Amino acid sequence: MFDIVTFGHPSLKMKSKNVENFDDELKDLTDKMLEIMYEAPGVGLAAPQIGINKNIFVFDIGEGPNIAVNPISIKVSGKVNFLEGCLSLPGYYWDIERPEYAKLDCFDLKGNKIFYEGDDLLGRVLQHELDHLKGKVLLTCLDRKTKKQALKDISVNGFPGNDV
Ligand SMILES: [Zn+2]
Repeated sequence: MFDIVTFGHPSLKMKSKNVENFDDELKDLTDKMLEIMYEAPGVGLAAPQIGINKNIFVFDIGEGPNIAVNPISIKVSGKVNFLEGCLSLPGYYWDIERPEYAKLDCFDLKGNKIFYEGDDLLGRVLQHELDHLKGKVLLTCLDRKTKKQALKDISVNGFPGNDV
């Protein structure tokens, strides 16, 4: 029913809205998001990536499924380069520098306050997915020259990841 939308889709550029009702509908949506993420496969998926501008993302870095509702960044620190890709830019990867550690506050499906924190892959996923909720895609993290080349590559080659 839902497909992952790719770069150029308006929902990827919009700021998402907070979830207000922690109900069955939210549970159904996050179930669906996890299903789509595992099918992709990917380590994280934000709601705007399936065309829904709500502050929700799901992730699994190999330790089981996690859900973040209405996340906000609490702390970042350090600095590290990481080869980063995005399900909405399938087939592209860039070496991107971000803080190494990230902590964010959010809610679980029942509306309880929880938090996620970590470095390495987890730190990266938390920051990447949070960006999606702010209407930012990976390209905004690139320097001007790299971004220009990326846009050119995309216009010429589309998303090679789609054909695999
Ligand atoms: Zn992404």
